[in-house]
Amino acid sequence: MIYADNSATTKVKPEVLEKMLPFLQGQYGNPSSLYAFAYDSKRAVENAREEVAKVIGAKAREIFFTSCGSESNNWVIKGVASKYRDKGNHIITSCIEHPAIIQTCKYLEKQGFRVTYLPVDEYGSVSPEDVRKAICEDTILISVMMANNEIGTIQPIREIGEIAKEKDILFHTDAVQAFGHIPINVDELNIDFLSLSGHKIGTPKGIGALYIRTGIKIDNLIHGGGQEKNRRAGTENVPYIVGLGEAARLANENMAKNIEKLTAMRTALVERVLKIPYTKLTGHPTNRLPGLCSIIIEGIEGEALLLNMYNEGICASSGSACSSGSLDPSHVLLSIGLPHHIAHGSLRLSLGEDNEPGDEIKIAEAVEKVAARLRAMSPVWENGKPMWE
Ligand code: PLP
Repeated sequence: MIYADNSATTKVKPEVLEKMLPFLQGQYGNPSSLYAFAYDSKRAVENAREEVAKVIGAKAREIFFTSCGSESNNWVIKGVASKYRDKGNHIITSCIEHPAIIQTCKYLEKQGFRVTYLPVDEYGSVSPEDVRKAICEDTILISVMMANNEIGTIQPIREIGEIAKEKDILFHTDAVQAFGHIPINVDELNIDFLSLSGHKIGTPKGIGALYIRTGIKIDNLIHGGGQEKNRRAGTENVPYIVGLGEAARLANENMAKNIEKLTAMRTALVERVLKIPYTKLTGHPTNRLPGLCSIIIEGIEGEALLLNMYNEGICASSGSACSSGSLDPSHVLLSIGLPHHIAHGSLRLSLGEDNEPGDEIKIAEAVEKVAARLRAMSPVWENGKPMWE
């Protein structure tokens, strides 16, 4: 099997598991307890905080552990909304955010907030000028993702951060797909809040964090005990936090090497697949995540593509794993202007550190084979082209 679905989740790294194991076995002390045995857990959590902070140029005390990227996104959007309601009730985001942002914003709309969902261009890029134009007297938050999970486009975060700073508006970025994959510095980019998740960089699923810039207060999402400096209640998930720390350290250490390797493999994969007639790369041609490519293969249904790719030994996805099960094309593909019948044939291939050079050729060969087989059976494919051509 070749696993080419690393944007959905990644394999747990052996080094990560090794660091976690003591805390799943003998080291079960509660970090809040006062005796020496428990202090080992506390120290391990604080070390992990340091490692996560380093990846984004933050201070350890600005990192708050959560259960996942979705929780981090919920916390920041709801936490800003309730804290700053007196100041205003307008939020700016984009129409291609992950559901953990879009659905949270929809929920807030029901509570009386106003949300602007900015459009994107054909590459899925938000225009900083559109952000500027959308700002009103009552805008309290701008939330634009760093890199898109379906098409891989990296957003102009620096420019948006500058506008947010100039207008004195809080700025959040959902960096779940970017964290540990591309360089990020929260100070240089003027980011006030950043969401991240462990399972995209080699931890088990179910651990995340939110970066909150020093001095900024938001309301809590999870109320209860005094963990995480009274900001996120719940006894710390020590083994998973330790795992996130190790995964962050490794990601930081290997980032340059991985960017080079994955960019080369993804470029070769795209070049080869685009030789198939009536195919198209979605997302920005260059300003994109190193390992991710999303390709449209006209005349074929995404579902059939996936199942047939799996029969060829390749794990991939269509649109986003989060929307699988639905037969509608994803909101991202529709937002970049693809008509329904074309958006249906999307295939997302996301390479990761564990992929070996040469995998990209095997994947491309499988795509060629599957595309030919499915087009031969497709009711919308005639004489070597789609019916709409
Ligand atoms: N944001 C983005 C951009 C994502 O890709 C994902 C997961 O795919 C999430 C948020 C949610 O993260 P989690 O799975 O940790 O809840």
